[in-house]
Amino acid sequence: MAALLEVKNLFKKYKNIPAVNGVSFSVEQGVCLGLLGPNGAGKTTTIEVIEDVIPPTSGEILYKGKPRDASFEDEIGIQFQTTSLLSLLTVRETLETFKNLYRKSANIDDLVALCHLSKFQNQLNDRISGGQRQRFLLALALINQPELLILDEPSTGLDPQARRNLWNLVRKIKKEGKTIILTTHYMEEAQHLCDEIAIMDYGEIIAQGTPEALIKRHSPEMTVVLPKERFDLSPDDLNLPFRNVRDRIEIKTVDVNSCLNHLLSHNIDLTDLTVRSPNLETVFLNLTGRHLRD
Ligand code: ADP
Repeated sequence: MAALLEVKNLFKKYKNIPAVNGVSFSVEQGVCLGLLGPNGAGKTTTIEVIEDVIPPTSGEILYKGKPRDASFEDEIGIQFQTTSLLSLLTVRETLETFKNLYRKSANIDDLVALCHLSKFQNQLNDRISGGQRQRFLLALALINQPELLILDEPSTGLDPQARRNLWNLVRKIKKEGKTIILTTHYMEEAQHLCDEIAIMDYGEIIAQGTPEALIKRHSPEMTVVLPKERFDLSPDDLNLPFRNVRDRIEIKTVDVNSCLNHLLSHNIDLTDLTVRSPNLETVFLNLTGRHLRD
């Protein structure tokens, strides 16, 4: 069966800037794909081309194996980074207005329940909190019962509670079988929500796979952490790659067992030892570097 969406050899140039420089990927039905990358990597441009908001310089987008046609607009739902909403309408009135724009639409009471909007559905659009607004924008993106949902940085600016709340909601939507493309700056968000990750930099996809596979391939090392006070000898004498970090010694290893045996053989007390697993953030920084992008 064809993938729900295929992006083939996509290029988008702005004068001399290759915003997207030969990107190809596909998204299978029911999968949540995360598009990650530093600022300016080309994520927004890629999804704007997919959404048909801007034309590509070259390349092809296939939906259900064919070039997009008029039905595509009916079958995708988009949560934009910024959306202007009429301040004179209430949340519920806005949902009803948007519902009338589509041939096929969701039941508003169901959406209100799903996205936890009931408490503020009768408030004006500009009188709701940041977390409420993001849940509301998600409800708007679902109003036409889309098959493909595109979420552009859905939790930017939210506090940790509101962010987790939104993640639970996205997981629930995913369970209903929706296919999702998500851009995010938050690695924890990607690790929580995405089945598949594509990391972009300078307009290209530089790594792709499940979060677990990316970690295994690009950041296999564990970090063994011990308080400095546990070391009677100089860590240099251990013959292990270590870093001095404030009051701790951090040792990188792909083989925790032999590292611990080695420490024990030097009579180092392992009380208070912790082992840190690599995560997507480590992969991201290893691949895209640590310098600031803005
Ligand atoms: P991201 O979403 O990963 O932060 P973007 O897709 O917004 O990246 O931008 C990719 C590159 O294209 C950046 O260098 C950006 O400055 C440039 N760019 C994006 N949109 C335009 C535009 N309308 N005109 C000129 N350059 C643009």
